[in-house]
Amino acid sequence: MTTSIFTTFFVGALLLSTFIKLWLARRQLQYINAHRAQVPEAFREQINLASHQKAADYTSAKIVYPCFPIVFEMLVLLAFTLGGGIQLLSNWALATFHSTMLQGVSIIIAVLLISSILEAPFELYSTFVIEARFGFNKMTLGLYLLDALKGILLGTILGLPLLLGVLWLMEKMGSLWWVYVWGVWISFNLLLLFIYPNFIAPLFNKFQPLQDDTLKARIDALMQRCGFTSSGLFVMDGSKRSTHGNAYFTGFGKTKRIVFFDTLLQRLTPSEIDSVLAHELGHFKHRHVLKRIVFTFILSLVFLWVLAQLMQADWFYQGLGVYLHSSDAAHTQSTALALLLFFMVLPVFSFLLQPVTSFYSRKHEFEADSYAASQTNANDLSTALVKLYQDNAKTLTPDPLYAKFYESHPPALERIAHLTGK
Ligand SMILES: [Zn+2]
Repeated sequence: MTTSIFTTFFVGALLLSTFIKLWLARRQLQYINAHRAQVPEAFREQINLASHQKAADYTSAKIVYPCFPIVFEMLVLLAFTLGGGIQLLSNWALATFHSTMLQGVSIIIAVLLISSILEAPFELYSTFVIEARFGFNKMTLGLYLLDALKGILLGTILGLPLLLGVLWLMEKMGSLWWVYVWGVWISFNLLLLFIYPNFIAPLFNKFQPLQDDTLKARIDALMQRCGFTSSGLFVMDGSKRSTHGNAYFTGFGKTKRIVFFDTLLQRLTPSEIDSVLAHELGHFKHRHVLKRIVFTFILSLVFLWVLAQLMQADWFYQGLGVYLHSSDAAHTQSTALALLLFFMVLPVFSFLLQPVTSFYSRKHEFEADSYAASQTNANDLSTALVKLYQDNAKTLTPDPLYAKFYESHPPALERIAHLTGK
């Protein structure tokens, strides 16, 4: 491989992935627009034309708007790499700091900081303009800034030691560093899984034990029937930020808990809540969470191995617009640069894996639905789903190809047909 071939390969993949994203967005828009005039036959009893059109407009607004960030992101990546942005930051770090570790870390932090500042306007627009226009946003600017501040603090407390540890291992552990880094990465993720429910999530939301005794008795009965124990049922104040509803499980082993968004409990009937919960139990019964974790752990080992090969090749850096300094002092810096470049360009290539992961995710949803149908009434889950579609203004008529590529959940029509056996 030579520098120019790698550059061509990178730019080609970047253009291709950007083109696919824009092309799929256009298909989705056209499809939704073509089906805007009437509610699909299967939903006419539950959904009126006004909500159907609100869903069409909301989904369209959320599609048109990301077309700008898609192009913008591509330009930012090009500016950082071939445009010389990282080279500039690397020269600055080398001139500013004495410690080689500090040089490496400061380049990575600088890139992360600049990227988040560049992305912030898009996020603000999405929350305070689009979500607000359709009546979903409950977030104030104060809350938004507070969330951001907590995120930065959390990222520093958890992420900085991890980054330092990884760079140190990459330096000191010789050619098998990637195995050690993998071990650290896995331990770090398992630690996060354990501390998330009790320490991280409460920083952002309030969790209160479910108060409604009748509902609690129903849920306990359902869980007993399914042979399931958990360390608690909680209601989360999701309405603090948005009116979108949800329910989920967090934690493992003894820290396992079930969390309902307050918005969900307000909207569904007790038997519908049962069926939504049974769907979530289905994910556990089929070990979907465990399978996903094992899959990502294996994938990260592969990625680290690839990085270990790439970081020894000059064409990898030069092909992405970075010229290393030849002094020994720059060695740690090159480790940090390799790590940074790799994780910046990885999404360009891994984007093509998206349909595969989406496929497996939809398969899991069908399995969880079947489980819910076997433990509760399938009609309850299907009416609950339609309510959630309506409340979240999710389109009932996505473009089939767009849905196949991106959607982690099957389209409403397929999902309900599967549930009701029609
Ligand atoms: Zn699910």
